[in-house]
Amino acid sequence: MKHAKINQCTVGFSGLRPHRSDLFMRYAHFPRRTHPGGKKTNYGWKPPGDTGLQLDMFVHLIEIFIFTIGLCVGSFLNVCIYRLPNSKSIVRPGSTCPQCATAIRFYDNIPVLSYLWLKGHCRYCGAAIPLRYPIVELIGGLFALGTYLKFGLTIEMPIYYIFIAALLVVTFIDIDHRIIPDVITLPGIPLFFAASFALPQITYTQSLAGIVLGGGSLFLVAWIYNLITKREGMGGGDIKLLAMIGAVIGWQGVLFTIFASSLIGTLAGLAVMVQSRQGMKLAVPFGPFLAIGSIIYLFFGTRLITLYINLLR
Ligand SMILES: [Zn+2]
Repeated sequence: MKHAKINQCTVGFSGLRPHRSDLFMRYAHFPRRTHPGGKKTNYGWKPPGDTGLQLDMFVHLIEIFIFTIGLCVGSFLNVCIYRLPNSKSIVRPGSTCPQCATAIRFYDNIPVLSYLWLKGHCRYCGAAIPLRYPIVELIGGLFALGTYLKFGLTIEMPIYYIFIAALLVVTFIDIDHRIIPDVITLPGIPLFFAASFALPQITYTQSLAGIVLGGGSLFLVAWIYNLITKREGMGGGDIKLLAMIGAVIGWQGVLFTIFASSLIGTLAGLAVMVQSRQGMKLAVPFGPFLAIGSIIYLFFGTRLITLYINLLR
């Protein structure tokens, strides 16, 4: 039995295969592979002669499995994006072609692949399938993989993935219809507050402060904007959305999200204005930027804030 010191904890190896507990302890949280240049891996020491092949294959299988599940979730998100604004059921009936209303068979409903082998057209009437469908599926898959690589097989992973899925639906509905559906944000606030008890990243008081700060700050902005311009600028949907975001990432996350989304939103707004040569009147939906800002915080928040503080020094 050999022992290696990794981050002050001793991990035992016996022969070619690490013990099962090692596997889950180390691979679940750092599913990274052998460095191509040598034997040193970024999860620690490797016993000589161990190719790590079996473990690598296992790790890849988990990744592929999670990515595939994510693709299917993405497919379901497409249904939500299409049906929620029209107040249709997201469960029944099954998918049909919006052009010819023919029911889509299961083999034509496989995420991304069906789009590829149907070459982007309905099998029955030849109507074009928007490229956005496979893109949303792909985004769903990539975020599933991303949350797994970031958080491992933990309780945070599904919670954050559901949060990101909700943001994806909100984003695309806001782009299409300029509304943020209350059916997502309103139940989202208490549900994610309840989830904060399971999240090691924040306390429930931080979550509560996030809801109050998220809802309150945008409410204040909207009120002042309305007072000055006598026009409605910020929609009520944005207020509820940021309150939901606050429930998940806390008040610190809300501050980051407001800063990041304003920055990205302003840059994008300027780019659109230059492109279309229209004035300030062109309204850009703000919801997608709130979503982007909060997802950046989820994945890189601590790293970016540390970077920023180090720059100030
Ligand atoms: Zn059709």
